[in-house]
Amino acid sequence: MTHEHIETTPEHIETLAVHGGMRGVSASGSHVPVIDLSTTNPLAGVESGGDSYENLATGGDLGEGDSAVYQRLWQPGVARFEESLSALEGTEGTVAFATGMAALSAVLISAVAAKTPHIVALRPLYGGTDHVLATGLLGTEVTWTDVAGVAAAIRPDTGLVILESPANPTLELTDIHAVADAAGSVPVLVDNTFATPVLQRPLESGATLVLHSATKYLGGHGDVMGGTVSGPTDWIVRLRQVRALTGGLLHPFAAYLLHRGLRTLPVRVRAQQETAGAVARRLVGHPALTRVLYPGLPGQDPAGLIGTQTSGAGSLIALDLVGGYDAAVRFTEACELITHAVSLGGIDSLVQHPASLTHRPVVASARPSAGVVRISIGLEHADDLTADILRALDAV
Ligand SMILES: *Cc1c(COP(=O)(O)O)cnc(C)c1O
Repeated sequence: MTHEHIETTPEHIETLAVHGGMRGVSASGSHVPVIDLSTTNPLAGVESGGDSYENLATGGDLGEGDSAVYQRLWQPGVARFEESLSALEGTEGTVAFATGMAALSAVLISAVAAKTPHIVALRPLYGGTDHVLATGLLGTEVTWTDVAGVAAAIRPDTGLVILESPANPTLELTDIHAVADAAGSVPVLVDNTFATPVLQRPLESGATLVLHSATKYLGGHGDVMGGTVSGPTDWIVRLRQVRALTGGLLHPFAAYLLHRGLRTLPVRVRAQQETAGAVARRLVGHPALTRVLYPGLPGQDPAGLIGTQTSGAGSLIALDLVGGYDAAVRFTEACELITHAVSLGGIDSLVQHPASLTHRPVVASARPSAGVVRISIGLEHADDLTADILRALDAV
């Protein structure tokens, strides 16, 4: 049971977030999990040690009486974080990796190993995802399409359909249900990094797999990297095996920080979203801006997905500057309170220029417009953030 120190399994995400993955902690006399840094674990006997090794190296979970054997095969703090995130995403399991890209790589390796190396991908995607798919580095072949083109793009060797909603960096929403219907029996992977399970649980819309760059909202403080894939048990077993054999494991201290991050995730996500909405509304109509891109603004959610697929618009906004590239550069460099840095989802606000940074490897025809800057809204006050943005717009 997930929450053995409480009698019933709670239903609300705030409670699940605080109490998830705490199995046995109180009983051991601690209030928070102990960080176990062991790289190896004592074996009870040659035969039982060998059995544990075989179970874990083929993707099994730690069984009753199993030794964890070796940190790359199984780690207790990583398992706690995985258990908690599975409860939040509503999935049978989760496999955690060293980074979001390691998580994505494991999924692609798994698709190639199953002889279904063809990937159908909906742009726009995270720049790194776009890059690894476009290069075919891991032996996949990609067909780029949009929602309407998914059904026609599916082949007998298609292993996966990949989408991101809200998308990076334009913040467009994609109808997961429509994609899942078009994909038929082909599993749909949703990169849920921007929405988090607080706002969107892709399995409820027909997706099979959920990916996170845990580096962003799940960690939430800009001090830890990680990645996760959540989904059904058959995928979890395959992905654990890929992790055990290719070695992209999360470090135990990173697992501790990510597990702790989940405990405040619902409050952080909602507070940041409220601030983002307030900032976005105050920027609409500013003469230096062609558009304020934020799915919570009127007209920017034509399919009505907010309130059905997702409960909110999130806390990323993008600004399209009238003066194009030069104006975007001047704006980015003029922000003071908002730090010019890549990444997102932390407690402090960050601004970056996607066309020259995160989306630089993306083919020119699919690259975001050069006048677009992306802002990740943190936990600062909306008035202070708005003042910083208005001052930077004046400097343009
Ligand atoms: C950052 C990011 C990734 C990659 O994650 P890393 O932890 O940096 O490897 C993937 N998808 C999205 C949407 C991201 O923002």
